[in-house]
Amino acid sequence: MRCEIVAVGTELLLGQIVDTNSSWIGERLALAGIDCLRHTAVGDNRERMRVAFSDALDRSDAVIVTGGLGPTQDDITREVLADVLGVELIRDADVVVRIEAVFGGRGRPMPASNLRQADVPVGSHTIAEMPGTAPGLVCPVGGGGDDSSKVIYAVPGVPWEMKQMLEGTILSDLKRRAGISSVIRSRTLRTWGRSESGLAEDLAAEIERLDAVGGPTIAFLASGMEGLKVRITAKAPSDAEVDDLLAEEEVRVRAIVGPIVFGVDDQTMESVVLDLLIEQGLRMATAESLTGGMIGSRLTDVPGSSRAFVGSVVAYDGDVKRSLLGVPDGSVVCEAAVTAMAANVCGVLGADVSVAVTGVAGPDPQEGEEPGTVWMATCVDGVVDAVRTRWPFDRTRIRQFTVITVLNALRLRLLARRDA
Ligand code: ATP
Ligand code: MG
Repeated sequence: MRCEIVAVGTELLLGQIVDTNSSWIGERLALAGIDCLRHTAVGDNRERMRVAFSDALDRSDAVIVTGGLGPTQDDITREVLADVLGVELIRDADVVVRIEAVFGGRGRPMPASNLRQADVPVGSHTIAEMPGTAPGLVCPVGGGGDDSSKVIYAVPGVPWEMKQMLEGTILSDLKRRAGISSVIRSRTLRTWGRSESGLAEDLAAEIERLDAVGGPTIAFLASGMEGLKVRITAKAPSDAEVDDLLAEEEVRVRAIVGPIVFGVDDQTMESVVLDLLIEQGLRMATAESLTGGMIGSRLTDVPGSSRAFVGSVVAYDGDVKRSLLGVPDGSVVCEAAVTAMAANVCGVLGADVSVAVTGVAGPDPQEGEEPGTVWMATCVDGVVDAVRTRWPFDRTRIRQFTVITVLNALRLRLLARRDA
């Protein structure tokens, strides 16, 4: 089964939006065990779309088209599909009813142009999932309904609509056509505190062992301030068996790399820290200089963060550090300064624990300290722990790495406190 993706939209070519649909679909196809041979982007132009669709169909068994299913004049995927398939469009009465229901539900009159979205190529059928007003389409080529015929799928460009249709219908349809009955699934362990090459070294023997027994596989993915991801991928005949394989391998990897694993899959450093705080009934504050509130911002991105996070003092100027946080006279990039910030912000904001950061984000040196020099501190149960780092990065990464590193330091202390 060879598959291709065609993304439709002039905005993609102009660089106004990034084609995240194709990368998401590509990842899902790989996990489903389906070969994806090519990604194409094409503007909203009838002739160029026609060539893109029919060339993809010549090369491959299945083509997934995303975009151009909307109600406006430049949304012409339906018309081009009918052209490529050599059939007419007919208005699907069921889809008309569903579109009217979507508008009825929103209490708005339906523009007549939306009815165009109910036009489907003869011989095609619509995808059951329809979260918006654009139906997705399954179009067997040559009218043949059997699994040996080629097929074009069309889904809207709106990412969450596209994803529902892929997950609900298209991936399983493709697997059935390809005769794939096994399940492939991944689990991502997120780590912080070890380099990619260091991790690869730690896990070299385990990867060799897995190679010899034929799976699961382990891959590394550096993701900046989201951590270094270790992705475990397993394949088995059923969901339950694949989950067992992933769980077993997760235990092995954790035993080898230790507490640098801070989360799994969608967990983030901040969500994990908040969970630990809530579990232990602790309230947290931040005292931020070079990060300018980024730590508080990341924490408050997590729904429910108010259960543990009380607030931040953004003390950027030296005088603010001294007057609000009791930083002693002299350098504000030193152990005494960061220690005062971490200890005193707890009192100022009524928190039990805190993190504090002060340093030189660059590009210029400050107080004789080189850019990248950062002091980070955590305060737990009144005890401050401070460390100095010298990041070899640009301003953006210095600030980002400071955020995740100081949160990780707090995570490790909260784990130790819990297990004490
Ligand atoms: P609509 O009914 O909204 O017009 P559509 O099927 O016509 O849906 P487009 O008009 O191509 O889809 O895109 C709608 C929106 O979806 C775009 O403005 C863009 O934000 C997003 N989008 C479209 N294509 C992609 C893509 N390949 N990757 C990521 N986002 C996309
Ligand atoms: Mg559109």
